[in-house]
Amino acid sequence: MLAKTFSSTLLGINGTVVTVEASLQESLPQIHITGLPGDIVKEAKERVKACLNALGFQVPNHRIVIHLSPANTKKQGSQFDLALAISALGAENLLPHAKISKMAFLGELSLEGSLLPILNATALIECLNKDSKIENIIIPEKNFFDAKLVSSKKVLVASHIRQVIDFIFGESLLKTVENNLTSEVLTNYELSLDDVLGQTLAKRAAQIAIAGRHHLLLIGSPGVGKSLLAKSSQVLLPPVSEEERLEISKNYGQFRISQENIQRPFRSPHHTISSAAFLGGGSAKVLVGELSLAHNGILFMDEFPEFRRDVIEGLREPLETGSIHVHRIGHFLTLPAKFTLIAAMNPCPCGFSLSNQRPCKCPREKVNSYRKKLSGPLFDRLDLLVKMNESNHNSKDISEAVLKEQVLVAIEKQKERYKKSLMRFNGDVSLWQNIEGFELGEEEQTWLQNKKEKYLLNHRTISKVVKLSRTIADLENANLISNKHLNEAWVFRCPEVLQKVFYF
Ligand SMILES: [Zn+2]
Repeated sequence: MLAKTFSSTLLGINGTVVTVEASLQESLPQIHITGLPGDIVKEAKERVKACLNALGFQVPNHRIVIHLSPANTKKQGSQFDLALAISALGAENLLPHAKISKMAFLGELSLEGSLLPILNATALIECLNKDSKIENIIIPEKNFFDAKLVSSKKVLVASHIRQVIDFIFGESLLKTVENNLTSEVLTNYELSLDDVLGQTLAKRAAQIAIAGRHHLLLIGSPGVGKSLLAKSSQVLLPPVSEEERLEISKNYGQFRISQENIQRPFRSPHHTISSAAFLGGGSAKVLVGELSLAHNGILFMDEFPEFRRDVIEGLREPLETGSIHVHRIGHFLTLPAKFTLIAAMNPCPCGFSLSNQRPCKCPREKVNSYRKKLSGPLFDRLDLLVKMNESNHNSKDISEAVLKEQVLVAIEKQKERYKKSLMRFNGDVSLWQNIEGFELGEEEQTWLQNKKEKYLLNHRTISKVVKLSRTIADLENANLISNKHLNEAWVFRCPEVLQKVFYF
């Protein structure tokens, strides 16, 4: 007789439901698994056998064929153990078929029957939760926090297979997972923007970048505080929403990290990173790259021109679309990559070509080839360009508390604006003309037109200036974009500044 139940496997960073069917054959007792099981799944039959025997079950008593479908999807991971054990018991008629056919099981088994935690639990639970045929999803208690992120009433936790069997027979209840996560403001960073003295323009740029998810390039001599500013600016990241928390958890599913306190990520890869580690990929198993690990947070690239060419060019797609396409054998996968890029660089190889304190010793050609490592098209995708000066200890400094408060105001404005769309930040917008809040008055249109004609601006630059202005207006809770906002945005994109710094 056929016993059927459910489990799930990982496809990219998302889970996909797997049907587990077990049937008996009159033959020598053994368990045989079909449906493209990976190595860990193949080994599972030994764990399942040992565990069921330890519990006192004579399983297998016949030849049991367990099929995992869809057959053409590779099944990876130790999460199948529990479903395999339950389906084997079902096939031997030791469990009621009708009951288990509406349940899904995830969990690794120890040889004495304890349920051990699994990797990628959030994604594996999420897909099962969406399947209407499944009434209950049973998971290891140690994956409790992953389950909380999915916010499902179907999920039940157990710490031993014995509890699971008792529950199936209706002899006991299992604990549910109530969703009570709150989006508290994070305050446990050790860094503080107040430790960065002066640099008011750069702090303001970081605030705008984080508030509206725009991309920032800091240029300055060694020691002006580029890294400190970039690292400290993570204190401005707004609280993470439930939806974003789930996305972050899925990206980090391959690591054993505590899901208890998921924060917006701050990733700072070294400039020697390979393009595979940066973009993500892999053949047997998809490894999420730095671009996706930075999703919903900050990607900081120090010594920007020192990164490999293919790494820098790999930024173009995510900066434009918020995702990255990774090629795997046979198909393409799309991984999420929406982050605020903060890049930092010296203006020349020796670092002092913009300094007013030390002379630059680089030959002109060397400076040019250094700057040319950043291609024009990539440059076009950066929103804010800031030259940081030495000893810029301005008395009119701007405090971290004020910057933070304004970011929260801007986040609320954007939440309201994009509540009916997939976008979350002004930086996500591609066609601003159709969006409420982006309407420009006559004066503002004339301002744009004048700049466009004077500097021969392309469509992309215009669009950047308008989007930056929208974020600047949001920071002061203004409903309309005014000339004041446009003028401030212009400071960060002005071709005259660009020319001075980059000779473009
Ligand atoms: Zn130099």
